[in-house]
Amino acid sequence: MNPIWLRGLMAPVMVAALALAAYWIEGMTAALTVVAVSALAIIVWNLLQLDALTRWASGPIEVPVPEGRGAWALAYGALYHRVRLRSARQRDLRLALDRFVSGAKALPEGVVVLDANDRIEWVNPRAKAHLGLDLKHDRGAPIVNLVRHPAFVHYLAAGDFSEPVVIQSTREGALTLSLQIVPFGVEEKLLMSRDITRLEAVARVRRDFIANVSHELKTPLTVLSGFIETLTDVEMDERQRQRCLALMREQANGMQRLVEDLLTLSALESEQSPVNESEFAIVPLLLAVSSDAKALSGGRHEITLTIRDAATLLGSREELASAFGNLVSNAVRYTPEGGRIALEWRITGDGGEFTVADSGIGIASEHLPRLTERFYRVDRSRSRATGGTGLGLAIVKHVLIRHQGELIIDSEAGKGSRFTVRLPLDRVRFVADDATAHSARPDRASADTNASEPRSTTS
Ligand code: ADP
Repeated sequence: MNPIWLRGLMAPVMVAALALAAYWIEGMTAALTVVAVSALAIIVWNLLQLDALTRWASGPIEVPVPEGRGAWALAYGALYHRVRLRSARQRDLRLALDRFVSGAKALPEGVVVLDANDRIEWVNPRAKAHLGLDLKHDRGAPIVNLVRHPAFVHYLAAGDFSEPVVIQSTREGALTLSLQIVPFGVEEKLLMSRDITRLEAVARVRRDFIANVSHELKTPLTVLSGFIETLTDVEMDERQRQRCLALMREQANGMQRLVEDLLTLSALESEQSPVNESEFAIVPLLLAVSSDAKALSGGRHEITLTIRDAATLLGSREELASAFGNLVSNAVRYTPEGGRIALEWRITGDGGEFTVADSGIGIASEHLPRLTERFYRVDRSRSRATGGTGLGLAIVKHVLIRHQGELIIDSEAGKGSRFTVRLPLDRVRFVADDATAHSARPDRASADTNASEPRSTTS
């Protein structure tokens, strides 16, 4: 038999037995009195149980299920079991929700949850940074009241969310944002915002670079094809022909230098080509750089080389020679005839320092911050006329980045320039006069006292 019935019928059966006994002993009146009193007691007792259940059901959810008696104990037991199951489920759901919310908060993208009427329901911190939304104040507000950019308003109204829309945020830092709507649930939407400022900048640099390279190649190619036409169509004597060919060679050489510099730069920028490290003596490298400078100058400048400390360098000899060579070549090309160019190498407390100082045309201060940009030139025609590609200082910058070094430029228009390469201490090893290698000396004072006589060469 069902236990509820079993327990529930126990009291009426006992009352019936009691009433029967009273009838036998005292008669009908006593039996009826027993039935009436017992029935009243049973009703009161059941009402009390019902009252306890009602009070529990309308109280706070955490209050445990009250204990019942008799048949009620079974009902309460079943209820208790169900409540526990629901609490466990709720706890699991709450944990899952917490995990989802903390994941959404940590997302690098901004997330805004919109209801069916495009009103804000929830915002993660990144969306606050991107779009200036604040959950406390903006919950329930229509998104178009707060993100009023016309492109976004149109995007939302059009309802085609297959592609994102790009907007310029007017907030601090002037971000470029990519906004995409992702529909979910019943007419609800997620608005995702992504900061693409850096990507846009890279794309712009790439576009400018391609335009620059095309422009740099177009001029000599136009000149070359002009000469080819002239040579084909026009009758000329041998002297004129040779002049034509010399000019063509000059243009071809310019293109070749440009392509070589481009290849060098792309190898330096490539993360796949690590620095080809070796330890090499600086003195032969400096002597080679100085002798190249003299050859380029052809005796038009006074060029000196001062080596204050012999040392070995740890790095790519080829790359550092190219960086030093570019600085020296610039000094020759931007210093008028009769000017002075001084090359100097020393070890300081911070590492190694190579300086190229010239008495040339100098650079106005407004150009200095952009000088190492690819194709940035102060005087385009002078750069071209002297065989410049506009990539020399960009190459120097990248070589130094790869060697954890830095380039310091001091210059004044009309007064000359001073380019200093600084290499870090751990790439420089001082070589004493007795040819024993030591670590670079730790401070300038001791460097000065121990300095060997500077070696100078002049032409
Ligand atoms: P370029 O091939 O044009 O010389 P670089 O990248 O080597 O390209 O230099 C960029 C620009 O910096 C040059 O066009 C020139 O205007 C300026 N510059 C570089 N070195 C010097 C210098 N020693 N004196 C004056 N201007 C210089």
